[in-house]
Amino acid sequence: MRTVEEYKEALYKMRPNIWIGDEKVGRDDWRIRGGINIIKTTYEYAHDPKYEDLCTATSHFTGEKINRFTNIHQNKEDLMKKQRMTRVLCHHVGGCIQRCMGIDALNALSVVTYECDEAFGTNYYDRFKEYMINFQKKDLAASCASTDAKGDRSKRPHEQENKGAYVHIVESRDDGIIVRGAKQCITNAPYVDEIVSVPCRYLTPEDNEFAVSFAIPADWEGVEILARPAWVHGVEECPEEFKCPTMELGDVEAFIIFDDVFIPKERVFLNGIEHPDATAYGGFLALLFAHYHRHSYTGCKPAISEILASACSLAAEYNNVEDAKHVQTKISHLIGTAELVFAAGESSALHSEKSPSGTQIPDEVLTNAGRRLAGENIYEEYKILADLTGGIMATLPYINSFTDTEIGKLGLKYMERNPRISSIDAVKIIKGIETLGCSDIGGVLQVAGLHGGGSPQMETIAMMGRYPQRDLKKIAKYLFGLKNRAPRFERSEDPVTPRMLLKRYRKAMKFKHNDK
Ligand SMILES: Cc1cc2nc3c(=O)[nH]c(=O)nc-3n(C[C@H](O)[C@H](O)[C@H](O)COP(=O)(O)OP(=O)(O)OC[C@H]3O[C@@H](n4cnc5c(N)ncnc54)[C@H](O)[C@@H]3O)c2cc1C
Repeated sequence: MRTVEEYKEALYKMRPNIWIGDEKVGRDDWRIRGGINIIKTTYEYAHDPKYEDLCTATSHFTGEKINRFTNIHQNKEDLMKKQRMTRVLCHHVGGCIQRCMGIDALNALSVVTYECDEAFGTNYYDRFKEYMINFQKKDLAASCASTDAKGDRSKRPHEQENKGAYVHIVESRDDGIIVRGAKQCITNAPYVDEIVSVPCRYLTPEDNEFAVSFAIPADWEGVEILARPAWVHGVEECPEEFKCPTMELGDVEAFIIFDDVFIPKERVFLNGIEHPDATAYGGFLALLFAHYHRHSYTGCKPAISEILASACSLAAEYNNVEDAKHVQTKISHLIGTAELVFAAGESSALHSEKSPSGTQIPDEVLTNAGRRLAGENIYEEYKILADLTGGIMATLPYINSFTDTEIGKLGLKYMERNPRISSIDAVKIIKGIETLGCSDIGGVLQVAGLHGGGSPQMETIAMMGRYPQRDLKKIAKYLFGLKNRAPRFERSEDPVTPRMLLKRYRKAMKFKHNDK
C-alpha cells in the first residue's frame, strides 16, 4: 500500500493540464492542496493499526493486503465495511472523503465487463482484471467521470445536435479508440492518478458510439481539466491559535475535456462501435456506477448529518440553550436521518446479491430509498444548523480582527454568550460552522448532498424500476375483497438478479435479444 509521500510524489510528476481560470497549473498549485489533504487521509488511515480492519482488505485477485479504496466487494461484509469506513473517514475530514467514485465505477465495471463477455464473447473482463491488479498493487486513486455535458436534456445521445454533449468514440482502430466530448462536475480529477470514464444514462441501440468506457492517467495527452477549487477563506492570514483541521481541507470539481484522445486497447472496457450488440451494457454500466455510488452515500451522508448535529449541539451550548425542547427536537431530526440512511445501506448490504463475476451488489430498492432520504433532507439539515447557530455564522468578522492588538480584545468581549465557553473557543466554533454552512466548500457540499450519484428523480426511477409494484397491489386486492387469497409479500426477499434487471432494461430500450 502506498504512503502519503508516494501518493504526492506521483501527483507532482504529472503533466500540468489543469486550468484554474486562465492559468494552466500543476498539481502543486496551492488551490489544489485542500483536496490532496483529504485523499491523503485515505492513505494515512490504511497504515494505522487502529483503522486497519476498516481501511484495508484482501485482494481476491492476488491475496495481498490492499487499501479498501481499491477493493472489489466480494461479500456482504465487504460492503458493510466500506460503508463504515466511509462514515468514519468523513467525520475526520468534515465532509466528503472524495475517494469513493473511482472504486465505485471499478466495482460496476467488474460486473458489466464479465456479463458482456459471457453474452458476446468479448474479452473486457480480462483487460479489466489486469488493469485492476495493477491499480491495487500501486494503490492508485481514481475519479469517476460519468456525468456528460448532456446538452439538451430532452434528447438521447444520438439525437443531440452537438454530439460532444456525450463522450463518444470518434474512431475505433485495432490498437484502440479515439474519444471526444466532455464530462462535467467531476470531483477530485486534479489530484488523482486515474480517470475512469463510464456512460451516464441508459442507451438505446442507436447510441452505440456512446457505449464507451475506459481508464487513463489524469494527465493523459489530450485531456484538459477545467478546475473549480473550493477552500476555506482566510486560512493564509489565520493566526496560529485559531487554526483547525477543517482549514486544511478543500475540494476541486472538474470539467474534463477529451479532445480527440487516443485510448489504447488495453485500457478500453467497452466499445460500442466494435461490438454494437454490447451497447445495452453501456446503459447498465451507468446504472451500476450510480448504484455503487449511492451505496457509498449511505456511509458518507450519515457522517455529514452527524457532523452537522455535532455542530448544532456545540452552537446550542454556546448559546446556552442546549436543553431547550425545540433544540433537542431539531437535533434529533439530524440524528434520526443519519441513522435511517445508514440503516438503509447496511440493510442493502444484508440483502445484497452476488453477481456472476463474484462482485457483491447491494440491494437497489434499499440503497436508493436511503440515498433519496438523505438528499431530500439535506437543505432541512442546513436549515437546522442556521436556525440553532444564529446569524453570526454568516456574519463573523475575519479571524484576524480578533487577534489585532487594537480591536481584538473588544471583538472577543462581544463574542461572549455562555460563560462556560471562552471567547476564543466561541470564535472557533462559529468559524467552523461558517465553513460547514456558509463557505465556498460548504455550498458545494450542499449541492453534492442533493445531486451526487444522480438527481433525486433518478433515485426514484431506479427504485421503482426494481420494486415489485404488481405484487404490492395484491395486498389491497386481498384486503378489499378482489382476491380471496392473502399474499405473502416480503419485498426484500424478492430475488431480482442484476441479469433479470438487464433483460428488463433491454426490452424497454428495444434491444434485440440475440445473446445467451
Ligand atoms: C459537488 C458535486 C460533485 C459531483 N461529483 C461527480 C463525480 O465525481 N462524477 C460524476 O460523474 N458526477 C458527479 N457529479 C454530478 C452529479 O452526478 C450530477 O449533478 C447529477 O447526476 C445530476 O445531473 P446534472 O447535474 O446534469 O443535472 P440534470 O440531470 O440536468 O438535472 C437537472 C434537473 O433536470 C431534470 N431532468 C434531467 N433530464 C431530464 C429528462 N430527460 N426529463 C425530465 N427531467 C429531466 C432532473 O430530474 C433535475 O430536476 C457531482 C455533482 C456535484 C454537485
